[in-house]
Amino acid sequence: MPNANMESWSKVQQRLRAEVGDDIYSSWFARMDLEGIEDGAVRLSVPTRFLKSWIQSHYAERVLACWQAESVDVGRIELTVRSAILRSAIAKPKAEVAPTAADLGRNGNGHGSHAGRSLSVGDPSVHDALGGSPLDARLTFESFVVGRSNTLAHAAAKQVASAKRTDPVMFNPLYIHAGVGLGKTHLLQAITWAGNAAGERKVLYLTAEKFMYGFVSALRTQTALAFKDALRGIGVLVIDDLQFLQGKSTQAEFCHTLNALIDAGRQVVIASDRPPSELESLDDRVRSRLAGGLVVEMGQLGEELRFDILKARVMAARAHHPSFDVPGPVLSYIAKTVTHNGRDLEGALNRLLAHSKLTGHAVTLEMAEREVRDLIRPQEPKRVKIEDIQRVVARQYNVSRSDLLSSRRTANVVRPRQVAMYLAKTLTLRSLPEIGRRFGGRDHTTVLHAVRKIEGLVGNDMALAEEIEILKRQLQE
Ligand code: ADP
Ligand code: MG
Repeated sequence: MPNANMESWSKVQQRLRAEVGDDIYSSWFARMDLEGIEDGAVRLSVPTRFLKSWIQSHYAERVLACWQAESVDVGRIELTVRSAILRSAIAKPKAEVAPTAADLGRNGNGHGSHAGRSLSVGDPSVHDALGGSPLDARLTFESFVVGRSNTLAHAAAKQVASAKRTDPVMFNPLYIHAGVGLGKTHLLQAITWAGNAAGERKVLYLTAEKFMYGFVSALRTQTALAFKDALRGIGVLVIDDLQFLQGKSTQAEFCHTLNALIDAGRQVVIASDRPPSELESLDDRVRSRLAGGLVVEMGQLGEELRFDILKARVMAARAHHPSFDVPGPVLSYIAKTVTHNGRDLEGALNRLLAHSKLTGHAVTLEMAEREVRDLIRPQEPKRVKIEDIQRVVARQYNVSRSDLLSSRRTANVVRPRQVAMYLAKTLTLRSLPEIGRRFGGRDHTTVLHAVRKIEGLVGNDMALAEEIEILKRQLQE
């Protein structure tokens, strides 16, 4: 090739690198070679068909512009896929020869640094990369406890897992976000288990890391096409911990995959620790695409949900350790004090199990207090005083504290009074008679009635349940 051409090519490369940045340049252009220049056409080659189509659809104009900046004679770019056959037969005229599937699979490419790295379709590293991340057999819908904070996410997950191949996709992507330990991975793996068991659509679960690793390594081993084919062959793509997706080219590929799947009517499910709007490193188009489906947040596990999760866990543990038992008061104690997340709940129970196995002693409240002390965070829940409850409740419902203690029975006082007594019972260690005394000298059966009344209402009345959560939070802060 004439030296002048090589010189121009090297300048074009520098220009291109300066324009797109090192990251993108090395992802897409590092293996682009100049084949020749004839009649105003620059012939460039890349090693895979995937690279060719990617560059053509994203960077064709830019590459041409870079050439035209160097040489006014250049009118167009021809991008070809170079094959092993072409390379070894130097004498042959250079024409576009698209490699066959067998070429891509076996890839006896003797070119440059890839010499000797031959891969077959059955290569385990490729299969691993495509095969999804390992699943935990315990994380199923059966073991997922539904409560107020995760009802919607659970319903959506169920819908995705049970949808028929021919059903229209209801929301795409399904985007679930929540803090650490609130059940995202559990729900995503449940979708994967149930979906694959139903057999309607193949579900692939990938952590963001696996997605990055799979893609990057596939590109390196020139099986990007196989990787993409495999992705396209699946019905539901599940990606966990999207916030860990890093690197411009990975994100570009993610965006590409997302669009391809959604446009083809495949379901995408994503979990992240934050909403799409707060994924700073992703560009606006990806963010709006992510926000364009159903975005569901899972809130903190409420005390009731924590209790139910613990109970379910104990039941599950008893399958292997029949002698293991955790009395109700201990469960209540843990549910009340270990508030942080699902992982700490699991940790607390594991300790009780270990302790009772090792010592042979039954689980008691005292033992539990000792064992889970360091899981109680941020600090011990604040000691709530009955006066505080009365003050906060009176303010919330716009009545006076003396109204709460009075014998007035109008509705606008009765309900707040019942709420206050209920809170006194649930947030303090005071006995029913004691609470009765502090509420204007009432009988303990009156307090009991109030507590039961509110407990009953909270199950059905979301607004009231919400109000009570807010009151509790105010009191415990
Ligand atoms: P995340 O992925 O959101 O950080 P995980 O799904 O790993 O959280 O959950 C942490 C732990 O809490 C797991 O052991 C999980 O089984 C448990 N967990 C969380 N939410 C629930 C729930 N609703 N029902 C049962 N277990 C739960
Ligand atoms: Mg997780």
